[in-house]
Amino acid sequence: MILELKGISKEFKIGKKEYFYALKDINLAFDKGEFISILGPSGCGKSTLLNIIAGLDTASCGDLIIDNQSTKKYKDKDWDFYRKNNVGIIFQQFNLIEHFSALENVELSMTLVGIKKKQRRQRALDLLARVGIDKEHAMHTPSELSGGQKQRVAIARALANDPDVILADEPTGALDSQTGLMIMELLKEVASDKLIIMVTHNEKLAYEYGSKVVRLLDGEIQKIEEIKNKEEIKEHTFLNKRDRKMSFKEAFKLSMRNMKKKFGRVFITALAGAIGICGITLVLGLSNGANAFINEQITRFGSSNVVTITKNIKKDNKLEAIKDIKEFDFLKKNEDVSQIRVELPEAGKWYVNDNNIDTQQNALAPTSDLDFLKPYLNGKLPKDNSKEVIVNKAFARKVINALNLKDDDYDSVLNKNVKLDFTSLKIPINTEFKIVGIVDELDVDQPFIYYDYDGMKSYLQDTKIKTESLYKILQTNTKFEVVLKNPHQLLSFRDWVLKESNQSNNNMLASYMGNQEGISLTSFALIFQQALQMIINLVQLVMIAFLILALVVSSILIAIVLFASVLERKVEIGILKAIGARKKDIMRIFKAEAIIIGLLSGLIGVGLAFVLAPIGEKVVTHFSGYDFTNTIKIPLSYDLSINNIIYHIPLLQIILLILISVIVAFIAGYLPSRRATKMEVIDALRDE
Ligand code: ADP
Ligand code: MG
Repeated sequence: MILELKGISKEFKIGKKEYFYALKDINLAFDKGEFISILGPSGCGKSTLLNIIAGLDTASCGDLIIDNQSTKKYKDKDWDFYRKNNVGIIFQQFNLIEHFSALENVELSMTLVGIKKKQRRQRALDLLARVGIDKEHAMHTPSELSGGQKQRVAIARALANDPDVILADEPTGALDSQTGLMIMELLKEVASDKLIIMVTHNEKLAYEYGSKVVRLLDGEIQKIEEIKNKEEIKEHTFLNKRDRKMSFKEAFKLSMRNMKKKFGRVFITALAGAIGICGITLVLGLSNGANAFINEQITRFGSSNVVTITKNIKKDNKLEAIKDIKEFDFLKKNEDVSQIRVELPEAGKWYVNDNNIDTQQNALAPTSDLDFLKPYLNGKLPKDNSKEVIVNKAFARKVINALNLKDDDYDSVLNKNVKLDFTSLKIPINTEFKIVGIVDELDVDQPFIYYDYDGMKSYLQDTKIKTESLYKILQTNTKFEVVLKNPHQLLSFRDWVLKESNQSNNNMLASYMGNQEGISLTSFALIFQQALQMIINLVQLVMIAFLILALVVSSILIAIVLFASVLERKVEIGILKAIGARKKDIMRIFKAEAIIIGLLSGLIGVGLAFVLAPIGEKVVTHFSGYDFTNTIKIPLSYDLSINNIIYHIPLLQIILLILISVIVAFIAGYLPSRRATKMEVIDALRDE
């Protein structure tokens, strides 16, 4: 006996404590070569019985013996294996997947056991030919086929994995009698070596084809009749030991095909997910652009390659003077360092026509290290060892005011003189410097004047060396300056110094306050850069918080759409289960779908960002009056620096973003896909 039912009962809960007994103590035994007709009026429990035999439903009590083995201890995967390899099911309503062609429908059950595409296709075509479907019709979808043709396809599908048992639930119920007869003939012909169990309420068919007729009434066996001798089956090979599985690749292809048919909905879902990704891409682009902006701006400072260096020793919170510049000799190891020098006193006041100009002042690097400034300079650089200065626009405006020059014409201040006065230090120095250039800094309305270091130093020493107090200032200066070859090396230089001097704290703003032990570096450019950076980081953080919210919302959207799709595809899931899909396979299909949606929304999101960025820039530029063109720079590569070698990783951030999108969609798809596997699918396949 290959199948035995022992005391099978099935009850359905219909009320709080009410049960309906659909099957009561069924005892039956079947063998290969038999054609069993299960006959009975509608509602007597035929389908319920068949579903239990198919492993689609479990009995409330009793045991189904498969090949002399109890199924009491069967786990899900044993049932899956059984359905996949040992039974083929044919339904009244055909239950073909509507958006698959006949060929694909037949292939599907072979896909589930991992048969290779070429082999699969060939076998499907052979099977279809056997049931009378030619190559041309094989390409049609179920809706393009007649009822008889659909049932032929269903038979071909049931035969696909060469099962031992064919279960047919009213296979002719939806067909006219002529077609019904042809289908019966076909079934008998193609499955003569198998056990066929057919449910019907058609007495004529039951007796004409059945080798045994089981009469069912109200869930009980009324009568068992032996009609004729069963086919003699010699070999007995039950339970195929094939346990191959559907690959993720196949699950992917299946989902792809599914989604092609429902492209509209998939696209809208992906679009919902894309909003978050698009936003993050834009924020990333904006901060990238802002960083590029800052980096460009800091090189426009006249002294952006000059770093002030101090050594702090915590002694009652006072700075201890650096006694010897030799302490900083180690800095010369750095290739970016061009010069180390004493900082000049900064106590002088600048005048134009007796108007004091409240300004920041700095010593320039030697002309040879000022190439970076040239693109932003109107006029020229001070000659080495000269009393020439350059100023920024804010300073120039003060000069224009003081001298009543023509507004808006910064060039008019070129070659004008400014006066330096040290009288506040009780040093009677008072001399003129000439403005030779105007540097086009980021205009923050803070006047700046830059003088030539050597020029200022020798001037101070030559003319007033005898002045006791100035001499003291130069001798006891606590600060030194480091001139870098290139202002872009500012940050890496800072990090290098911190590493060399074993300092963990790199908060430059804090060390600038002088309460930090060790060496501290400051430059106006560094402070400026850090302040801006802080603001940008803060804004970025807030925006990203919002966008994470957007991602959460979009993942909920994706989950809802997938849920809807699970409900809508109940029949399809049922079919998949009926032909042996494991829970895992069904989950895989839905997970693959989620991944595809995630991928799509990632791609759409990033693509959208590229489209929206220039439009946004134009709009903001138009309304704000400032030029925002090229502020959004979506990062196209990432510079990874390992041991001072910089590796450009192309598209790293973009790939990461798309990955995030996929992960979000995957998470969003998890619950719906669980729902899909847990769903009661038998109801969906019911005939009534
Ligand atoms: P049929 O012989 O027409 O195929 P079924 O096996 O489909 O009959 O159903 C047998 C009886 O069990 C019917 O009265 C039906 O209403 C009932 N039934 C089937 N499935 C369920 C269910 N899930 N919940 C409650 N009652 C059910
Ligand atoms: Mg039925």
